Amino acid sequence: MAMPLTTEQDQVLEELRQAHKLLLTTHENPDGDALGSLLAMHSTLEQLGKDSLMFMSPDEFPLPWEYREWTFDGLVGYPPEDVQERTVVFLDCGNIDRMPVDFLQEAGVHILNIDHHHDNTRFGTVNLVVPEASCTAEIVWHLARDLGAEITPPIADALYVGLVTDTGRFMYENTTAEAHRMACDLIESGVQPHEVYRRLYEDLPFRRLLLLQRALASVERLDGGLITVAHLTKADFDETGALETDSEGIVDHMRAVEGTSVAVLVRDLLAEDRAGKRKVSLRATDARIDVSRVARELGGGGHPQAAGFTTTLPYPQLVQELREQVGSQLR
Ligand code: AMP
Ligand code: MN
Ligand code: MN
Repeated sequence: MAMPLTTEQDQVLEELRQAHKLLLTTHENPDGDALGSLLAMHSTLEQLGKDSLMFMSPDEFPLPWEYREWTFDGLVGYPPEDVQERTVVFLDCGNIDRMPVDFLQEAGVHILNIDHHHDNTRFGTVNLVVPEASCTAEIVWHLARDLGAEITPPIADALYVGLVTDTGRFMYENTTAEAHRMACDLIESGVQPHEVYRRLYEDLPFRRLLLLQRALASVERLDGGLITVAHLTKADFDETGALETDSEGIVDHMRAVEGTSVAVLVRDLLAEDRAGKRKVSLRATDARIDVSRVARELGGGGHPQAAGFTTTLPYPQLVQELREQVGSQLR
């Protein structure tokens, strides 16, 4: 089964075929789908003879440890002078404020918005939003094939990382038959699943285990276990030597606990200009709850089962707010 043929998909394909100069970007704090979609789209466009650049803020570096082996040739950390002549492609970014740089939000920037978040604000000139897609990489996989590109081993690797990370290793609700068909195709294009697994989930820096230990020590169950929450403070990061990106995956431990409807990881942000701010990750395991609604109420967004936001609410107020939001959805 192919992706449903929509006018948006045709329009994006036509735009990509016609464009000579492009600038690709994604969301801040990029995850595997963001980075994988970016790299795969960039390699595809280069293969087709296009002048493609990728933009990410220098603040994103170092990238999460999982992606340490990837190199980003063609990456810029500043606005290219000719940005107004480039077709800008946003990948995996549901809301333009998730790429907080002024030059991409100026009038006249021509934007193709390619994403799978159901709450995408459709900020592009053309919007290809496919909520049924397991990951943005799945959309890129379809586009690359429709453009006649060969899925080379580096493209397959980038797409597969997006697929594995966004489906939680083929365990979340977005693990569709199409997701497995994509995996099959990518394996036939050279992906070695065990090698990718080792790179993403093993060979961990010890500080990650220390950070997990701190998170587990902080776990609380609220409202009879409905909400299972862990909190990582700045001191936890300082004392373990862990980086912000080392918290990836910790919320899944909260989510796995029997009786939990909503799993929460709250972590203090470490940058000096973000002192007093906290990042909140939400995961729903209860079909009655849509955590993207909770996140939107508090200034963020995401998927019904996985969402996030950043807040200045002090921790006790934040917890109270979450309890009220979850409670109101259950009533
Ligand atoms: P995370 O908890 O960071 O792993 O994010 C889970 C999901 O929520 C992902 O689909 C993100 O794209 C989305 N998300 C996280 N933070 C935000 C935010 N501040 N605004 C909008 N969506 C977010
Ligand atoms: Mn993402
Ligand atoms: Mn995604």
